[in-house]
Parts: sequence; structure tokens; C-alpha cells
Amino acid sequence: MSRYYTARIIFHNTILGLPKFWGEMASCLTWFKRPRTVIEGEPPNASWYSGGTLNISFNAVDRNLDEPERVAFYWTNEAGEERAISYRELWNEVNRASYVLREMGIRKGDTVSLIMPSVPEAVFFSLAVHRLGAVLVIHYIGLSEDTLAYRLNDAGSKLLILATRTVRNGKEIDITSMARRALSKGTQVEKVLVVGRGKRDSHDLEKGEVDYNDVYSRGKVEVRPVPVESNSPSTIYYTSGTTGRPKGLEQSTGGYLVALNWAFRALMNPRRGEVWWTISELGWPVWPMANLYVIPVMGLTAVLFEGFVGHRPDTFVRVVERFGVNLVWSSTTTLYTLKSLGDESVSGDTSSLRLILNTGEPLNVGAWYWLRQRLPHVYIGDAYWMTEHLFPIAGTPWGVGEIPYKPGSAGVMFPGSEYHILDDDGRPLGSGKKGYIVIRPISPALARMHNDPDNERFLKTYWSRFPGYFYTGDYGYHDTQGYLFVLGRADDVIQKGERIGTMEVESVVVTHPSVAEACAVGYPKVDGEGILLIVVPRKGVTANETLAEDLKSYLRNSGFLVDRVVFASRLPKTKSGKIMRRLIRALIRGENPGDISTLDDVTVLHELREVLKHN
Ligand code: ATP
Ligand code: MG
Repeated sequence: MSRYYTARIIFHNTILGLPKFWGEMASCLTWFKRPRTVIEGEPPNASWYSGGTLNISFNAVDRNLDEPERVAFYWTNEAGEERAISYRELWNEVNRASYVLREMGIRKGDTVSLIMPSVPEAVFFSLAVHRLGAVLVIHYIGLSEDTLAYRLNDAGSKLLILATRTVRNGKEIDITSMARRALSKGTQVEKVLVVGRGKRDSHDLEKGEVDYNDVYSRGKVEVRPVPVESNSPSTIYYTSGTTGRPKGLEQSTGGYLVALNWAFRALMNPRRGEVWWTISELGWPVWPMANLYVIPVMGLTAVLFEGFVGHRPDTFVRVVERFGVNLVWSSTTTLYTLKSLGDESVSGDTSSLRLILNTGEPLNVGAWYWLRQRLPHVYIGDAYWMTEHLFPIAGTPWGVGEIPYKPGSAGVMFPGSEYHILDDDGRPLGSGKKGYIVIRPISPALARMHNDPDNERFLKTYWSRFPGYFYTGDYGYHDTQGYLFVLGRADDVIQKGERIGTMEVESVVVTHPSVAEACAVGYPKVDGEGILLIVVPRKGVTANETLAEDLKSYLRNSGFLVDRVVFASRLPKTKSGKIMRRLIRALIRGENPGDISTLDDVTVLHELREVLKHN
């Protein structure tokens, strides 16, 4: 790491440097009214850029009219259909959508929900919601009807906007029917705006439903962007639900956008005209962060891909080639999918590609090398953040200085934020020592809990374990150069003699040639905890007792004594692709698995029950 970078980081993270730093960063946005101050009060009760007013849609759309024909979005899907939307068209469509939403009664401060696949309309309507100063809540496709009904009510949405259907991995998904089932449970939603995906959708509307096609204005309409105070909420996100029931979190308008735009300048240093593809579902914060709050705000070009990237082995590389993609931001699970698809997934003309950024889970060293060997011209970066703090806790800010990558690490400290590793008693630990990851000082992208006006629940959840620090719930260590290694969730730490983070075991086992994916959990034994490993074998590999023994001895050579190895066809994952280890622990103990509202595929439960019973 360069000395220059280290010196800057030390300055920015001091009390003197922090407001100055974040004050300078605010100039990336156009403010209708300049903020009075940078920060007032102390985190977690701080206000950022108070008195400043702005509008997200103005920053993302109107500011780009200097070059109106530039492409704002490319869209493509599994079948290879395509669209290109210029910034001029984006302006027109956002204004048309805003007009309709305003006619439907949406005003500043209202909450609007949206369920759509990755299509341009998702961008039009999201930015239209922001143009009116309303609060946006994007939901995953395929949440159970109870979960969706709960979230619609929790968020207090009056309006739900949906696209009628989508195709994922070759299968058609009927979104309208899903939404109707949720609404029949009783919600506060008064109207549903239905956005058709072709002629055959424009029939059979039910009560309260409005077909966008019927109210859409063909002519030019202009809706003035509504000024919003910096600290007003812009969006509500729900956490992934990996460690428990998902939590609803609000992000502000000014601070959130400033923090995100700085984060990506540092992570990617994007240049005007560059093409950026974010591989994520809409319900995960990653999609809106990139496609609503950074790409158009920086005037870049986004690729929206509708469907599953693993649908065909060459889908990824075809999209990169077709649109000349320069930057990819991907969930960890997607990078594992590419690896499991084999070399074909990245063989082709990838010369445009210069960076792949990982987020979601620690990227294991095996996958890192796999990508690096096949794409030697591409920098494999990392950013570690969480819904509660959508600013990197650690990352690879190579836009700022030379940040050589260390495989297995989430990167270094970010200017504007600061992590520490603490022991059980809250004492800071030095390099090489494993402990709890906490953050201080806190960036402007620190969320507030939804429906928690006095910040009480937030303080209790995140501030009480280690007074003075925000507790991430993660476990890890840093090395002498300040590179952070996330070893897993603190809840999942295995107590076997010493404390072992799940990632420590998993990152070894996935280097075995017979293993596609694996997950480690601790379970109670008479003499402490045992390690259970659930292994997904590679295609064509026979999973038997011999392989199980082989894996045990493979791990023993790395210092891990594994007690049980079982095989399964897949792992229990959240919709954002994270392994739900708590579910496996519950199954072993014969307990209720708890909240599984974000479990991507519930049929995995049955399979796991069977394999755990018979082993
Ligand atoms: P819940 O809080 O509901 O249990 P969750 O923590 O998975 O779910 P998110 O906010 O989507 O919800 O994920 C944040 C977590 O993801 C972090 O706390 C960390 O454990 C993990 N994470 C995210 N990015 C990275 C990364 N680049 N490297 C390592 N871990 C990461
Ligand atoms: Mg979390």
C-alpha cells in the first residue's frame, strides 16, 4: 500500500479531517440548496449535510442532458433480446412515469413499493419515485406471500408498482399473481400500477389495479424534481436474513448518495462512457446502489441483465463481449457460479473488462485464482459492506492509490470509515489476532432502523455490544499491512479448542478438486463443538465414504479436525446468495429453523433434513 494512501487515510479519519473530507466529497452532487453543515451531532445520531436540499432523479437524469444521446442503459435477457436507452429517453420516461405517479396521488414522503426484474422500467419508476421525493422500497421477486405482505405493511406502501412477469433460468415467473396473493392477506396498498411486458398482459385487471399502458402519456411531459432535505429517507432496504429475521433499514438522501459516489470513485475510478454491469437481483441493495444511485449520477452506462447468469455456460462472456463491459460488480455467489460453469463462462473477447468487484461474502482464494488466471488483465477487487452501513468497511480503493490485492482479504480501510478488531471485552486487538469487527467513525451511509424514530432499537442492536462502536456481527482479523480478512459471522464461529471462523475451514475444503461448494458449522458434542461439513461435489464426482474420509484427511493436513462430512446437491442460501448456516445448526439440533423468509429455495430444507438424519 502506498505511503501516500496511508497518510491520507489517517488524516481523513481524524476528528479534524472527517468533516473536511466529507465536505469536499459533497461536491459530486448538484444541490438545490447548499448544506449548512457537514455533520451535526455524533454518530449514530448525527445529521449529515443538514439544510441541504437535492433530488436524486435530477442528479441521475437531468444532469446528463448535456450529452443526451449517450446510452444510459443497455438491457438484455437470457434469450439475447436487447434494448438501448439514451439519457434523453431516460429523461422522457422518468418524467412520464413521475406524471402518472403524481396523478395517482404520490407525494413527497410517501412510500412506494416496486417488484420488477432487471429491466429499464425498474429504473424509470424508481427514479420517478425519487423525482417526487417519495421513499422507494424494492422487493425481491418470489418472496412468500406472507413475507411480501408483511414488508408492504411494515414499509407503509400506498402504491405497488410491478412488472407482470419475467423469465429466470428458462422459467416464466408470474409476478402479478404473486403480488395478488400477498395483497389478499390485507395490506395498506391502495393501488397497483401494472407494467405489462407485451400485448397479452393488458387484460383482466382486478380492483385497484391500473394498467400503465392505459395512463401513459405519449407526448412530452415534464415533472419538476421535488427538493428533498438531505436527511430525509430515500429508500428502505431489508437485510439478507442470513443470521436472523431481516431488519428494515432506511437510508438518507444526501449523505447516502455522497458516500456511495465517493466509494465507487475510490473502488473503480469509472471514466465517462464506461460500461458497468451489476450482477444482482433487484431486492438486494447492490442493484439500486449501482443502477440508480451511482451509474447515472456519474453519467456512465449500465447493463441490465434480466435472468440468471448461469443459464447458459457462456451467458456472462456473451454479455461482456456484446456491450464491451468495462466494470463488473458481482455477488460472490455469481462468481462461484462462473467457476462451476467452467472455462467456457469466461472464454471469449474480454479485452474491455478491467475490473470485477466482489461483494456479499468473503471470496475464497480458489475462486480468486481461478478468475485471475483466466482473466489476467482484470483487477479482482473487493468491497465489504452491510445494509446497515452502505459504505465499505474495507475494500480495494485502487482509484485512490496502489492497493495490491491479497486473495482472501476484503481489502484495506476506507477513507471515511475505520474498522477495528476487538476481543470479548472490547479491547482492540493487534494484527493477526482474531476478533469481532467493529466500525468507527461512521460514514454518512449509516442507516437508521425503519419504524424506530428515537433510534433506540438501532442503538440496542448495533451499539450495545461494544459501547462507542458499531458492531458488524462479523468475525475476522487484519494483517500487519491493514488488510482485513473476514472469517465469517460471529454467530457462526466454531469453538473447537480455539475459535474458528467458518471461512477458515471452507476456504481450504473448496481447494479440493472434488468440491464445488462447502459450508462448515459447529454442533454440540460431549467434549465441546464438532465440525460438520456439508459438501456439494463437483459434477461427475461420486460422493461416498471414501471421499468423505479423503476430505477429512485433506483438512487435517491444514490443521482442522472435521467430525462429520455429508453431501448435498446444494446449500441453503438467501436470495442474495449467502449461506444460512443457522438453518443447518437448527436442523442438527432438531430445532425450529426460525425466520426463513429469504431462503431462496425452500425445498433444500427437505434434502438437508434427510442427509443429516442418515449421517
Ligand atoms: P442479516 O443481517 O439479516 O443476517 P446479512 O448480514 O447477510 O443478513 P447484508 O446486509 O446483505 O445482510 O450483508 C452484510 C454481510 O455480508 C456482512 O455483515 C458480511 O458478513 C457479509 N459481506 C458482505 N460483503 C462482504 C465481503 N466483500 N467480504 C466478506 N463478507 C462480506
Ligand atoms: Mg447483517
